[in-house]
Order: sequence, then C-alpha cells, then structure tokens
Amino acid sequence: MKAPGVVRGSLSRHPRERASLLDVCREVQGELGWLPPEAITEIAVGLDVPRVDVEGVASFYAFLARTPRGKIVIRLCDDVSDRIRGYDRVRDSFQKALGIGMGETTPDGLISLTRTACIGMSDQAPAALVNDVPVTELSTDRAWSVVRELRMHGDPLRLIDTLGDGNNAHPLVQSMVRNRIQEAGPILFSPMNRGEGIRKAVAVSPHEVIRTIKAARLRGRGGAGFPTGMKWEFTRAAPGARKFIVCNADEGEPGTFKDRVLLTELPDRVFAGLTIAGYALGASEGVLYLRGEYAYLLRFLEDVLEHRREDGLLGHDIAGRKGFDFDIRIQVGAGAYVCGEETALLNSIEGFRGDPRSRPPFPAQSGLFGCPTVVNNVETLSCVTKILEGGAASFCAYGTSQSTGTKLLSVSGDCRRPGTYELPLGITLGEVLERAGAVEPAAVQVGGPSGAMVGPEAFGRTISFDDLATGGAIVTFGPERDILGVVRAYTEFFADESCGYCTPCRSGNELLLRYLDRVLAGEAEPSDLEEMKRVATTMKIASRCGLGQTACNPVLSTLSTFPALYERAASVPANGRRRSFDLARATAPAAALRERARSEATE
Ligand code: SF4
Repeated sequence: MKAPGVVRGSLSRHPRERASLLDVCREVQGELGWLPPEAITEIAVGLDVPRVDVEGVASFYAFLARTPRGKIVIRLCDDVSDRIRGYDRVRDSFQKALGIGMGETTPDGLISLTRTACIGMSDQAPAALVNDVPVTELSTDRAWSVVRELRMHGDPLRLIDTLGDGNNAHPLVQSMVRNRIQEAGPILFSPMNRGEGIRKAVAVSPHEVIRTIKAARLRGRGGAGFPTGMKWEFTRAAPGARKFIVCNADEGEPGTFKDRVLLTELPDRVFAGLTIAGYALGASEGVLYLRGEYAYLLRFLEDVLEHRREDGLLGHDIAGRKGFDFDIRIQVGAGAYVCGEETALLNSIEGFRGDPRSRPPFPAQSGLFGCPTVVNNVETLSCVTKILEGGAASFCAYGTSQSTGTKLLSVSGDCRRPGTYELPLGITLGEVLERAGAVEPAAVQVGGPSGAMVGPEAFGRTISFDDLATGGAIVTFGPERDILGVVRAYTEFFADESCGYCTPCRSGNELLLRYLDRVLAGEAEPSDLEEMKRVATTMKIASRCGLGQTACNPVLSTLSTFPALYERAASVPANGRRRSFDLARATAPAAALRERARSEATE
C-alpha cells in the first residue's frame, strides 16, 4: 500500500489528537519500513500538528527512520554485557553473512543491520531485535543462520525455534526470551490473589490507602528512593479535577531487565498497583509507558487489561466501589533512553519529542497534559499491590528500617548465574555476587551506568537507599576486563542518548570521551585527570535532568575507586616529556609556511 493509504488506515484507529502521534508514527513505520516525506505530511495534516513537529518526533526516536531501511531491521545490542559475551564476533558474522557494514542495508532492500543500546536482555546476551522480535543468546553460527532463514522466509517470528519459560510461551507472546528468575522472594514474586489488593483498597478511604503506603515506608524503586506515599499525597492535594497515574515501564538503564520479568509473569500485580494508585490519587486515567524494546509484550498486556475490564477490575464502579471509575492505556515508546526521565516520558505520551522539562513545576502539580500526575515504576507499583494485599507490617518485615521490603536485581556480566533476583534490601553486595556465582569480581557496576562502579573493598556495603542505591542493575566484571574501556562505552552511550538541550550534558559527554581516548591511548597528562573531574562535576551540578547529572558517574566513580588505572595512563614519563606532545604535529603549520615561502622564492 502507498504512504497516504497506510497513514489513513493508522489515523482511523486512533483519536485525531496530538497524543496519537507516536502510535501513528510507529504503525506507519511498521508498514512502510520508514517515514517517507509524504507520510510525514499526511500525519501532520491528519493530527493537526505542525509538520516540523512530526519531523522532530521522527528524528528523535531511534526506532523511527526518515530514510529508507530494509523490510527487516536487525538491531544488534552493543551494551557492555553483550560485549562481554561476544558482541564483536557476532557483529562480524552478521556483517559477513549480509555483505554489509553496520548502519547499511542489503542491496535488495531486504535487511538493514544496525546497533542499538541495551534492549533489556543482558542476562541472555548477545541479543538483537529483529524488527520487534527479540533473538537472544546469539553466536557466530546463529548469526549466519538468522540471515539464511530471513533470506528464505523473511519472517522474524519464524526465527523463534524454542519458546521461553512462563508467559514467554503464552500464545500472545511467543518469544524465546527466558525469565531467568534465579531467586523469587516473598513480595514481588509471591503468589497473587487477583483482585485482593484492589478490594482491600476500595474498602477504605483514599487517605487510608496513602496512610498504609506511608506506614510501609515504600520508596520508589527507580533508584532515587523518594517516598511513594508522600508523592501520592502531594498529587492528591494538588488542585485540579483531572489527575493521572503513569507507570514507567521504560527500563532503559543498561543492564536492567527485571521489569521485563514482572511484566511477563505478574502483569496483574502491576496493573493492580496502577489502579490502587488511581484510587488513592483520585485519578480516573492510568498510562503504562512500555519501552519500544518490549513491544513484543504489547498484545499480551492488552489482553490482560481486557480480562481485567471483564472482571470489573477496570472500568466503572471498580470492585463494587460506587463512583470509582478507572482505566489504563498502554503507550509504546520508540527507543529513547532519556524517556526514562519522568518529564521526558510525559512529553513522549503527549506526542512530543522526549525532551525533559524544566522543573518546577513538578509533575505532582503539572504533569501529563498539565494535570497533577504521579509517575511510579513497575516494581514500585507491584510493591503497592503487595502492601495492600498483606498489610504494611508484612512488607516492613523485610529489608531495613529505612529501606523496607525487597529489591529486584538484574544481575549480568561475569557470573555463572545471571538473571533476576528478589532479595531483601540491606543485603550486602558481596552476598549478591556470591549467589550469582560471580568469580573473582574485580569491579561491579551497581545501578547501571548512571550508578557507581565499585571494587572489592565495597563488597561489604549494603544494597539499600542509604548505601548502594540501585534501580536494579548489577553488572560484574572479572579481573581480565578493561575497566577504562567499560567507562568509555558507558560515556559513549550517554553521549548518544543526550537530548542535546543543555550544554553541560551535550558538550560534557563529548569532552569526557576525548579525555578518555587520551587516557586509553596512554597520551593523557596528569592535568587531564583534573580537567575530567572538573567537567564531570560541572555536568553533575549544571545539567538540566537526571541523564546529564548522572552521565558523569562512570568517570567520577572510577576516578575515585580505581585511580591507579588513570594514573598509570596519565603519569609523566621519566624523560619529562609530555606524551601528548607530537613534535611533527606541533611544527606542521610552521613547516607548511616555510615550504610556501620557499616555493614563492623560487617562482
Ligand atoms: Fe537533555 Fe542531557 Fe540536558 Fe537532560 S541533561 S536535558 S538529556 S542535554
């Protein structure tokens, strides 16, 4: 079908409003393989949005394209965990088998090959998305066979030869992804009595529900640890009849994949948490923002929502509570790490580029469509349901006084048992590593790139909000790993994902990359290390959103934890000469002038 027909078809399935923009762009791209100029014009007219804004959205998200791509796009994940597991070899095999380089398309227009940031499969790396289909545990042989099969039948779904465990084998998922739940704890992975949490919530007042969440001392599981009950209280008290609760299922922090497992195995617990929050806030609308990398779960999650409507757990007079009307819709993202930042996520839902907003105002006062909004993540909302099911005291029975409950951890890297662990907060990092079978870990990235890189001296520290806080990612590195190479990879990731709005983040990441390259080439000066610290600190203080404020963490944390790595590379040589000083390069301009003068004299 031609572009106008495809756009008309997509528009007919969505409300004619700006908030439909991302959905329409995704659908059109899905059918045409890219967003041609005439499609962009049709979308702009159909949704009454300036054309330049549609261009802006199309250029912002990694999964949208304004130039032709192959019918099939292989997005090979190049995250650090994938590199540990053989990304380079797999990439080379794909390139050879396809006869193209990264970022190119086969001459017949069938297959494009490109890199992508973490797709949430670090426990089964190397992995790729083939269109929306995750293909995991790739090897060099598998890369060749993937290309052979795609050339034969052209259907990414037929690449799935073995279904994963649990709901990965559900007829509406049909994925080869494995849950790898290594330790199921007493809260998030406990058996669920569907509807119990909601029934208990609506049996009391919204204020009582908030009091229960406060009594459980629940703190946001995204890493920052803000008290959930307080967030709800602010939003409930904010003026405005229309309020929203948004579930942030955009877990883009490299090395994190635990929300994927919760959404696959216990989506009812997540949706119940959203509904309970809606009741407590006085909201009638909830949105689950699902990262584009997890689009393979969409049909399954929509089906779960449909069943909840049929069972009176969504819709009107929920669970028999007169006047409590609430429903949930799913917004799928399109590949942008920064959308994990809550205000960027709200912009994305509204059909704008996922640029973070300036604060204040905070979402509690002015969030989605300018209305008071709470953004909680998947794990936080799952905890909410459990707290209502079992009571605050049963939740507080786990963890520490300031960090109650359990924490889901995504463990990957150099360890024998990668996967998802539900463990009580307050557990030491060393114990986590032991359970995961990490052999002689030399360094551990706690909380993903935006967290901290720690060494063995920190293994006695605790996973908690007051010590080693983490959104959930734990990546372990054995003694043979190049830690500075890891720092560079993370910094490059942030440079790629920066939205570019503010200078400290946009330029700071590039400057750090330059200094890191000097360090890695053995050409750095001791003064470069001081300069790195200065740039990183400026980023932390002056960046507008969390991305820039934490992008400097890989550099800052390794400068303080592994100073010897830098100092070795940046020491002054015994001969006193500056390593970065290249005599030929420094005198090249003068030599050129001399040459010119000579040739002019002979003319
Ligand atoms: Fe954009 Fe980075 Fe500034 Fe955040 S800190 S607004 S991601 S440039």
